[in-house]
Amino acid sequence: MTTPACRFCRAPLTHTFLDLGDQPLANSNLTAAELAAGTERAFPLHARVCSGCFLVQVDDPVAADAIFDDGYAYFSSYSPSWVAHAKRYAEAMAQRFGLGPDSLVIEVASNDGYLLQHFVALGVPVLGIEPTANTAEAARARGVPTEVMFFDADTGRALAERGVQADLMAANNVLAHVPAIGDFVAGFRHVLKPQGVLTFEFPHFLNLIGQVQFDTIYHEHFSYLSLLAVERVLRANGLMPFDVELLPTHGGSLRLFCAREASGHAETEALQTLRASEHAAGLDRIETYAGFKTRVDAMRDSFLAFLARAKAEGKSVAAYGAAAKGNTFLNYCGVTAAQIVAAFDANPVKQGRHLPGSHVPILAPAAVDEVRPDYLVILPWNLKDEIVGQLAHIGDWGGRFVIASPTTRVLD
Ligand SMILES: [Zn+2]
Repeated sequence: MTTPACRFCRAPLTHTFLDLGDQPLANSNLTAAELAAGTERAFPLHARVCSGCFLVQVDDPVAADAIFDDGYAYFSSYSPSWVAHAKRYAEAMAQRFGLGPDSLVIEVASNDGYLLQHFVALGVPVLGIEPTANTAEAARARGVPTEVMFFDADTGRALAERGVQADLMAANNVLAHVPAIGDFVAGFRHVLKPQGVLTFEFPHFLNLIGQVQFDTIYHEHFSYLSLLAVERVLRANGLMPFDVELLPTHGGSLRLFCAREASGHAETEALQTLRASEHAAGLDRIETYAGFKTRVDAMRDSFLAFLARAKAEGKSVAAYGAAAKGNTFLNYCGVTAAQIVAAFDANPVKQGRHLPGSHVPILAPAAVDEVRPDYLVILPWNLKDEIVGQLAHIGDWGGRFVIASPTTRVLD
């Protein structure tokens, strides 16, 4: 096999970060018919780090049409805490940057309008850009003008030629999901006003490596982002970061504030502190990235020991969440529906299907009262508090919550 090239700087990727072997697509939940047909496919899932630009990335052997299939049906508004997060963002940005009726806010990958609806409520004009037609339709239904398109250098240029110029552009949890990261970022400089501000939110790689968040690695998640790597992509496109906020979302995310290099925005101390912390953690040295597998295997072994203990005690185990990250974890552990009897998820599109690989059946959260599991493993550990709050009544039959990261523990 030839050595793949870095998706940004094209240097040969000779350093493995974590090889997870062959895995099914993490968002491809199976219908009963698909499960019976036995035609599920698996693809190599191999994360590497570029020694040229330090972008951590997975190989790209999967065609985009296989990924953006009917399994890709995530509606952001299903998560109340995420919608609340978006509301706080809208209010803070409108105040900090003085946004009003003459401004324009664009969100790229705007999903079902979960974020832009809050700018609409503040009287700020918005435009959503969203590649998935059914989520774009949901956005329009809540009064958020939305265009169905992939954002990149070409579509950014086309928008600019129509006179579309933004005061604020948001791209939350999308930067990691675009295969051509350089081409994607290039689109922003066409649409951003000279003094406009661009915010990117993405899970911070420093937490992935520090807290063994290997379950965030899956095929659709192409890049694992540090400030170090993102800044290189920005600078290559005449853009720069000038401020950053650390967010608790997705196990620790960055909200990076960016602008044109010519805009004159001064770098904040927060940005400089973050740059220093990445340097202190060694993210700018290739040897830092070795040895991650040892820690991943320890996490797997801890979970398998828990499952064995539960089985020996005759206790049933179910899971909460049918999200991508849970699938990477379950499939790396080799878990099956014999060990985890059900996965509960609030998204009705997923209910009645089966998780890829493990084939655990997905049920509505209300079904937890019928299944009555002794242990409920919270797969989206970043939503732990929300899920514990919603399903606290499992304690009525002695049910207990379990978190598997970074080692498996039963919650009190
Ligand atoms: Zn590179």
